[in-house]
Amino acid sequence: MGKINVLDKHVAELIAAGEVVERPASVAKELVENAVDAGATGVTVEIRNGGTTFLRVADDGCGIAREDVPLAFLSHATSKISGREDLDSIATLGFRGEALASVAAVARVELLTRTAEELAGTHYVIDGEGEHICEDAGCPKGTTFVVRDLFYNTPARMKFLKKDVTEGNAVAAVVDKAALSHPEVSFRFLRDGRETLHTPGDGRVKSAVYAVYGKEFTSGMIPVEYELNGIRLSGFVCKPSAARPNRSMQNFFINGRFVRTRTASVALEEAFKGSLMVGKIPSCVLHLRIPLGTVDVNVHPTKLEVRFINEKPVFDAVYHGVKTALNRGDTPTVLSLHG
Ligand code: ADP
Ligand code: MG
Repeated sequence: MGKINVLDKHVAELIAAGEVVERPASVAKELVENAVDAGATGVTVEIRNGGTTFLRVADDGCGIAREDVPLAFLSHATSKISGREDLDSIATLGFRGEALASVAAVARVELLTRTAEELAGTHYVIDGEGEHICEDAGCPKGTTFVVRDLFYNTPARMKFLKKDVTEGNAVAAVVDKAALSHPEVSFRFLRDGRETLHTPGDGRVKSAVYAVYGKEFTSGMIPVEYELNGIRLSGFVCKPSAARPNRSMQNFFINGRFVRTRTASVALEEAFKGSLMVGKIPSCVLHLRIPLGTVDVNVHPTKLEVRFINEKPVFDAVYHGVKTALNRGDTPTVLSLHG
């Protein structure tokens, strides 16, 4: 007798969900990325109890056509790519078609959506009982997801959740990164009824940084604008005197996606070498535009890491871009221009 079982779809989904949905912040990240991909100009994220019992993401993007709604919750169902060749040039934040299926596997999900062409919106509920209700609903163009009772059906996962305040902070960090990566979108974040972030969405990185990190940090920033080897670098680095003891305010965005990249981090820190006190680490909000074909975002389900086909041009662009900005920043007259 053989011993191998092919797991049923539900168990397979629960396992897959574990890769994407670790905590409320992961749900927020996926839903916010979907909103941005949908072309939203405004995104509101609202949580209660750290996002564990209630997490809502509302956008004014393109909406989901009624016939597509049930499909959106299937695994490997996406409107963003259609074939293998598309994997080499991913221009959207999503492409794996896994997020909604994963979230729906471990939480109760409610969706309200309408496209510009539809007269009535669609209301859809998907919860543990597999109950899927589809009905006409009045709603503005766009999409609202409400995710309730995360991990209600996976108690082992629920045990790993931290205190509400910690989970809420992680969601806040996700919204912060989204706001910094997409200054053209206005983000609002509400925590237990209180608004803690509202970015203007005027397209300026500086406005987003101001809203996220406050006046003091923003006023001391040094602008970076640079281009090398087809890589465009823009954003801000902190003054050397404002460097911090850790990397929590080191933000790199590759083609609009917040990522952790050792290559860029090392380049930044090399460029600051000699101008920092021991133990201090530079902060930054740096956007890198690099040709789509030269970066692989399909490295990890959470897409927090990327692989560069060639790291040297990325290193060089960051290093020289930051170095140039710092040298310019050393001259007080020029600095005051950017005051
Ligand atoms: P992916 O983002 O990788 O395509 P998801 O599971 O996150 O996969 O979403 C599945 C599909 O549902 C998307 O491809 C998109 O067509 C649709 N969708 C999800 N969220 C939104 C949204 N906020 N606005 C419009 N369409 C959405
Ligand atoms: Mg997605």
